[in-house]
Amino acid sequence: MCETLNKTNGQSIEVESMTSKLAEMEVECIAVTPNAEKLIELAGRTAYKSFDKITDESAGEFIRRIVKNGHESVLEHAVASFRIKGISRACSHQLVRHRLASYTQSSQRFVDETGATYVVPPSIQNNEKARALYWNYLHNVEALYDLLKQEGIPNEDARFVLPNATATEIVMTANFREWRHFFLTRGDPHAQWEIRALACMIFRQFKEFAPSVVDDLCIYEHRSAGLIIDRVVSGETCAQTHILSE
Ligand SMILES: Cc1cc2nc3c(=O)[nH]c(=O)nc-3n(C[C@H](O)[C@H](O)[C@H](O)COP(=O)(O)OP(=O)(O)OC[C@H]3O[C@@H](n4cnc5c(N)ncnc54)[C@H](O)[C@@H]3O)c2cc1C
Repeated sequence: MCETLNKTNGQSIEVESMTSKLAEMEVECIAVTPNAEKLIELAGRTAYKSFDKITDESAGEFIRRIVKNGHESVLEHAVASFRIKGISRACSHQLVRHRLASYTQSSQRFVDETGATYVVPPSIQNNEKARALYWNYLHNVEALYDLLKQEGIPNEDARFVLPNATATEIVMTANFREWRHFFLTRGDPHAQWEIRALACMIFRQFKEFAPSVVDDLCIYEHRSAGLIIDRVVSGETCAQTHILSE
């Protein structure tokens, strides 16, 4: 399928369907502290010398209580790493503002960005004219990047012409306290849509291996922002229909 895009000089160009150039957000948990919830309990009970209360099932209740009491430093004993693909450089720039996490990101110095993919904001994707202008711009950027490379310009300098839309890959490692902070700040309705979508995607996977650590949080359908992460309203559970977290 081809899409006709108007060049600024009035001519029109046929470009290969940009669908293949669309980045898709992907998240994969690549490492997590073994027996993370049990470790948190073992460490946390040191404060109370209550090791005698440990059973096969006691970690969940213990963790929910320390979270409720705000004793969150205990959660720092466990860490999780996620490989994140298909987010924009705009999004990764926001991500790395979280200083208590560690990062390794695909380098635009060492990796040739020929054939890069791009993130398209929904506001642009849903506006035919804006979408055509956007892809036209990206098409020109790609051509310019190629020309610079042909001129012998190294990746580290040719990358100066690449936009925030360029997709990137990054591994993020954080302790469980920091992940909670990330979910709450970036899952908030005021957070930008892309990093909020990322927070929800990571949250879903996080909940599978450390459900008690985030038992007070849920994914909700917000009236205007779409999916958000918020504290569970007192008396409600994630099983209730308007709460979308599984
Ligand atoms: C809706 C929204 C809008 C934003 N808008 C902007 C913007 O316009 N411009 C902009 O520059 N940024 C903006 N940010 C980014 C924001 O300012 C933070 O840099 C980012 O959210 C990281 O948060 P943090 O510092 O709390 O988290 P982290 O760096 O992950 O730290 C976690 C917590 O550790 C503690 N901590 C970490 N480092 C220190 C320290 N040095 N001293 C004391 N305590 C520390 C704090 O309690 C902190 O909350 C925005 C963020 C959000 C969510």
